[in-house]
Amino acid sequence: MAKIAVLDDNMINMIAAGEVIERPASVVKELLENSIDAGASKIAVEVEEGGRKLIRIIDNGSGMDSADLALVFEPHATSKIRVSDDLAGIRTMGFRGEALASIGSVAKVSITSRTPEAIEGYTINNDCGDKSEVRPCSGDVGTTIEVRDIFYKLPARQKFLKTPKTEMTHIIEHFTRIALSHPDLDLTLRHNGREVHRLLSGQGVKDRIQVLFGQSLAEDLLETSRDERGMRIRALLAKPVAARASGKYQYLFLNRRFIRDRFVLHAVKEAYRGLTEPNKYPVVFLFMQMPPEDYDVNVHPTKIEVRFDNANLIHSQVLAVLRDKLLASNLDVPGTAPSAEPFSAEHLSTFGSGQRKERIQQAMSGFFSKPASAQHQRKFSFSNAGRGESLPQMPQSSAATALPDMPTFENSENLETLHSNQYLQVHNSYILLQSEDGFVVVDQHALHERILYEQMCRWLREGNLPSQRLLMPHSFEVTNAQLDAYESQKDLFVKLGIEVEPFGPNTLAIQTFPALLDKADPVEFVKEALDKLVEEGADTDSERLVHEVLDMAACKAAVKAGQSLSKEEMNQLLKDKDIVQRTSRCPHGRPTTISFSMKELEKQFKRTGF
Ligand code: ADP
Ligand code: MG
Repeated sequence: MAKIAVLDDNMINMIAAGEVIERPASVVKELLENSIDAGASKIAVEVEEGGRKLIRIIDNGSGMDSADLALVFEPHATSKIRVSDDLAGIRTMGFRGEALASIGSVAKVSITSRTPEAIEGYTINNDCGDKSEVRPCSGDVGTTIEVRDIFYKLPARQKFLKTPKTEMTHIIEHFTRIALSHPDLDLTLRHNGREVHRLLSGQGVKDRIQVLFGQSLAEDLLETSRDERGMRIRALLAKPVAARASGKYQYLFLNRRFIRDRFVLHAVKEAYRGLTEPNKYPVVFLFMQMPPEDYDVNVHPTKIEVRFDNANLIHSQVLAVLRDKLLASNLDVPGTAPSAEPFSAEHLSTFGSGQRKERIQQAMSGFFSKPASAQHQRKFSFSNAGRGESLPQMPQSSAATALPDMPTFENSENLETLHSNQYLQVHNSYILLQSEDGFVVVDQHALHERILYEQMCRWLREGNLPSQRLLMPHSFEVTNAQLDAYESQKDLFVKLGIEVEPFGPNTLAIQTFPALLDKADPVEFVKEALDKLVEEGADTDSERLVHEVLDMAACKAAVKAGQSLSKEEMNQLLKDKDIVQRTSRCPHGRPTTISFSMKELEKQFKRTGF
């Protein structure tokens, strides 16, 4: 007897449902997408008990006539594609024709629909594959779909459903994705008769973010866009300090479809490299548009994954647009805990000698007496200082002229920090200076480290780090592991401007060393770098290694905490802060600058409310 039998349609649908319909939220997603494909401008979603009991979606789209309704629950029944060529350029949210067939096989479904031309509507029911006739009925133009008691005949699947509250969280997430990518839609979400979200059409994406995620996130977003090489990107980026412990707040949309893509996510991570603490995920809303012919969405049943024809191009475009924006923005961390009381009387009295105390008090009073207009003029007085000779510790060698252009002040709309002689080094570690609306505290080591790191990154993008030949080669002994690491990562050292040559058995000699690192001991540095390579193992991503070694280099070459700086040196450092512009976090993720506003001070001194 033959063992193989062709499964009946309902079995096929139930198997498809296993892939497409995981939980009530998947139903909401599929139905919302259908309403969008039907051209609806207004959609209401009503849910009871997290969708376990009821999901109702009402749209004002193009509707279906009786012939369409008769086919709507058939597997692979779709109005969106006809021939195989259509698959190469999908412009609709759906195309597989399996959502309604799947949903109909696992729940009690009723559909009522009316097209604009028809004088009446039609309705059809499907109870887990048991379909009714199509019958006329009254109703508005558009479609209403009700899905009740999902999985009620499938206890094994029902068992996996979570509490209504948890299921509702999933529904809200899908609703949110649609709401962000379709700001033109009028959307409502109700749960157990209560309104969860009411989103009017014509809101901007930022308005929607504010409603869905809160004011504080929305108001701090940086906005940027680019239209290049067949790809349009619009991004709303949270500042690095807002990064989260999970990647949940990384919203990627491709032609209005929410996607997860490791190339794009990697580009996002790269763009924030060194700005966020390790293991944190920056908050981004990224809207990409490109011709549907340039990627394939038919790789995953829920279409959450896509396959790009040119993933490298996507990666570099996303990285560039985000990084450029971050680079040009002031990412300073606003002053935080009022309990910090940075300038309490006790603090002042511990500052040491009376003379010093006086200096501090003088400077403090000067901070707040300068009229704003005078400061404003000064704000632009360094606009020509975009060249390398202004960097601290840069030897006057060829290196300085190799510098690529830096952003100028005219481009930096967010520039807050102002220069004047009104700054002060505190405990040989911090620099205080006046800003437009208060003052900032700069961590001299962290800031310098960040400047050097950025500088080195720039040089690396152009080629190798400028180096100088050592008067005498510095030789040193290495272990076998260090030697292996050196052999496999020779290029890395070349990039860094470090020429190393074998110098007898288990001995290497350093011939050239980066000019920027003149404070560091070459042997110590190279040994440490080799140890890092040994530790990381041979198969580590070389790009990452470069940056780790850069972190190390920047840390070594930067001024230390506890090092007294001359006025000129401080001047230089603060100038470079603005040139680099991206100084909010040092490579290790610590902030470089903390700002305090007048408002906060006034609050501390209880001056508000009078
Ligand atoms: P797909 O969306 O992949 O085509 P579905 O099973 O989700 O498959 O839907 C099947 C068909 O039913 C769609 O192609 C569309 O023609 C029709 N349809 C579904 N929902 C609606 C709706 N809300 N308004 C109008 N037509 C709809
Ligand atoms: Mg569909």
